[in-house]
Amino acid sequence: MADDPNCLFCRIVHGEIPAKVVAQTPECIAFRDIDPRAPTHVVIIPRDHIPTLSDVRDPLVVGRMTMLAAEIAKSEGIADSGYRTVINTNADGGQTVFHVHMHLLGGRHFTWPPG
Ligand code: AMP
Ligand code: ZN
Repeated sequence: MADDPNCLFCRIVHGEIPAKVVAQTPECIAFRDIDPRAPTHVVIIPRDHIPTLSDVRDPLVVGRMTMLAAEIAKSEGIADSGYRTVINTNADGGQTVFHVHMHLLGGRHFTWPPG
């Protein structure tokens, strides 16, 4: 999908908005969430603009985000204590930025079910 010049995360991909980048691959970028909800809170995005999980056509997009989340969990030291990966989708899912992304949260215990 073409980059959206008005998309916040596309602007991070292009370096137009600063971000605390923790990992980069040819296909993905991971950066610290600006409003962290846990001691570790990283957002992982594909470089390509895809609005929501429902718009993903290539399963590798999700696979790459997930595997990068697992790698970052190790480098952040939360792999053994545990972590949560979340993709919020549309209004009921709580999505606020419409460029598909995976949250990696860890460093504390999370309750289930989520609120
Ligand atoms: P969601 O609500 O699932 O769409 O997640 C969007 C996330 O992006 C939220 O957790 C925001 O705190 C985060 N966010 C918004 N703007 C920025 C930014 N400029 N840099 C890093 N994270 C951001
Ligand atoms: Zn985008």
